[in-house]
Amino acid sequence: MGKVFFISQNNYNQNEIDDAVSRAFNHFGISFNRGEKVLLKVNLVAGHEPERRVSTDPAVVRAAAKFVLEHGATPLIADSPGIDNFNNAAEKAGFLSIARELNIECHELTDPVDLPVANDADYKKIQVSKFVLEADKIINLAKLKTHGQMYLTMGVKNLFGCVPGRLKAGWHYNVGLNREKFAGLLLDIYNGVKPTFTILDGVIGMHGNGPTSGTPYNFGIIAACVDALTMDFWLCKMLGAKFEDYPLYLAAKKRNYPQCELNHADIEGDISSEKIFEGVELPKTRSMRLLPHVPFVERLMTSRPVHIQKLCIGCGRCAAVCAAGALKHENKKLYFDYSKCIRCYCCHEMCPVKAIEFKPSRLLSFVNKITGGK
Ligand code: SF4
Ligand code: SF4
Repeated sequence: MGKVFFISQNNYNQNEIDDAVSRAFNHFGISFNRGEKVLLKVNLVAGHEPERRVSTDPAVVRAAAKFVLEHGATPLIADSPGIDNFNNAAEKAGFLSIARELNIECHELTDPVDLPVANDADYKKIQVSKFVLEADKIINLAKLKTHGQMYLTMGVKNLFGCVPGRLKAGWHYNVGLNREKFAGLLLDIYNGVKPTFTILDGVIGMHGNGPTSGTPYNFGIIAACVDALTMDFWLCKMLGAKFEDYPLYLAAKKRNYPQCELNHADIEGDISSEKIFEGVELPKTRSMRLLPHVPFVERLMTSRPVHIQKLCIGCGRCAAVCAAGALKHENKKLYFDYSKCIRCYCCHEMCPVKAIEFKPSRLLSFVNKITGGK
């Protein structure tokens, strides 16, 4: 199990972020060799301005790229957005201007190739971008956010973006309703990609209806680690979230991963292992605990996506991303086929104007009421 290093950081002042990021690299003794190719895997799920707090903040990406350059290595900023044109999304998120300023590459993770997976992998055939395998080192630049489908998205979940473009939607469809199975896939990708280092931008993250439609939350931290699983589980606790609602934890527990046993000695830096972020709104999209994984029951215990028509701009991105064929769009009207819907919430994630929300089923509302949502 690894250590997790926390740095208090309350704003995106570039000089302060440069110091914080250098401190993180130096704390773990991460260095780069001249000429090495270093892939900076940012979070660019969709094209939003930095103020929406959807993507890794450009100040953090710039600081990491500069650190790599100063060591004589060659950084590449990269990700694969769900549906957006990469260049438009990277321009909006502020990544292309960093690439121009530092004269480095910034491009999409394309060209799927087979990922060598670990022996305990649930999924033996996973394809990721060839750029991931060609990199000498991968620096995982994640964002701290809640996530409607997977509860939280931090270090491990960020690597799902190594799967190119529409192959991501295919995985959602193949895995279906079962969040634990999807979390198993995330573990397989994490173990196969083996990032050298993870830096998590939690200066201002997102809570509520993440990962794209929530509200900003000032966590005031940058976290860094070699083992992102340990970091994610500690942050789950610090956010006041429940492990039994966190599919990644449940999947890791099933595999007896040692990271599931939190060790207070693993927390280093500016905050204590007792830290709790107050008032974090967590997704209440389903109950993970009370019922077995049977598709019919899962549907009843999981919130449905619903349309807020007055906000809709009629872009059609929601229907275009739906791998289950459960959603049609016509003239700013959406038609859901809930019998086909796998509750992946990709439609919610890709909506640029928050015009898709979650509606709990009656059974889930009842369960939340009697359990107090606990
Ligand atoms: S309608 Fe939305 S939540 Fe349902 S399968 Fe399609 S993209 Fe996923
Ligand atoms: S719901 Fe959102 S994604 Fe779908 S058409 Fe309307 S604005 Fe576009």
